[in-house]
Amino acid sequence: MREVLANWPHDDVRMIVVTDGERILGLGDLGANGMGIPIGKLTLYTACAGVPPRQCLPITIDVGTDNTHLRESASYMGLRQPRLRGAAYDALLDEFVEAVQERFPHVCLQFEDFGNHNAFTLLDKWRDRMCTFNDDIQGTASVTLAGLYSAARITGTPITDMRLLFLGAGEAGIGIGDLVVEAMTEEGISSADAHSRCWFMDSKGLVVKSRTDLAVHKQPYAHDHPPVGSFLEAVETIKPHAIIGVSGMPGTFTAPVLAAMARHHARPIVMALSNPTSKAECTAREAYATTDGRAIFASGSPFAPVTHKGRTHVPGQGNNAYIFPGVGLGVIVADSSRVTDEMFAAAARTLASTVTEDDLAMGRIYPSLSRI
Ligand code: NAD
Repeated sequence: MREVLANWPHDDVRMIVVTDGERILGLGDLGANGMGIPIGKLTLYTACAGVPPRQCLPITIDVGTDNTHLRESASYMGLRQPRLRGAAYDALLDEFVEAVQERFPHVCLQFEDFGNHNAFTLLDKWRDRMCTFNDDIQGTASVTLAGLYSAARITGTPITDMRLLFLGAGEAGIGIGDLVVEAMTEEGISSADAHSRCWFMDSKGLVVKSRTDLAVHKQPYAHDHPPVGSFLEAVETIKPHAIIGVSGMPGTFTAPVLAAMARHHARPIVMALSNPTSKAECTAREAYATTDGRAIFASGSPFAPVTHKGRTHVPGQGNNAYIFPGVGLGVIVADSSRVTDEMFAAAARTLASTVTEDDLAMGRIYPSLSRI
């Protein structure tokens, strides 16, 4: 790792985006083909925040791939071996992070599109020891929190009074939950109260106390509630103000789910955040048509405006690119030694404050991308 990093011709690298290609967008394990992600994200640092390209270094660590289709493809350029796992993987990543700190002492290291388990482990291990963050966990959380602040201006329900139901309890879902809890407690309610407002459903059902299979990061959200198997039943029981899709499972916000949301709330909040567009939990058209145009809809990937009964609705795009370039620029300018959750909460409030009344009138809870 040290030798490879020593080869890089620029010394003043301030931003690294690194992936191991295991969970690229909602597309899964793309192995070495994940390289488009670090390059693309760093391009956004330059385009959105003016960070000079020579201060940006994209990295993919090729540890093999469990995608057998890729391994057998004649044109695949990565290692044709199953993913390195366990102690050997951890040691390699430790070597990498230590080598980065030595070679570029002022760098901010952004982890991107790692598999769920490694993402949480790496963040927990390094967040208090160097300038680092995980965009899938913290950046997503910030942009979603901003959307909820904007939606609150439309519905009149402050976030501290909202019940949120997440479909998907992975990096994105739990990251959002944790930042929402932080924001709610900053606004005066207790941490227990804030946790009780966030409900999660994963591939095994509703996250409830009686389950014995819950990963550590899900446990604070396990409520005293009978098990619920279907998302529709969860919506009918919990009557959430917002449903937040971070499952990578397209079509899971079905017409009955959206209709139930519209029955329970005048302006239901529907965030179908799974990427790319083909993975979104529902389309913009489905959200508006099934709720008679009342849904406040946002997605992770772009959807075109939808005209329903003569009115045009503009879907918001909850794109992390509203957050990470600005946070990174702030970190560089301040020569910050850590990236904190408070920074992401501040970024969320700042982003929400740029949403105009005209945006809200069109149903848009983020500023137009052209103003990014
Ligand atoms: P992850 O693998 O960490 O988590 C996925 C979660 O979905 C897991 O909890 C899994 O149990 C759950 N799940 C899978 N199938 C399900 C089903 N049928 N019903 C209920 N739950 C199910 O992945 P992640 O990093 O959390 O990302 C999830 C999705 O969110 C991806 O599609 C990603 O593109 C998207 N995402 C969007 C944004 C954004 O829009 N700003 C940012 C980050 C991630």
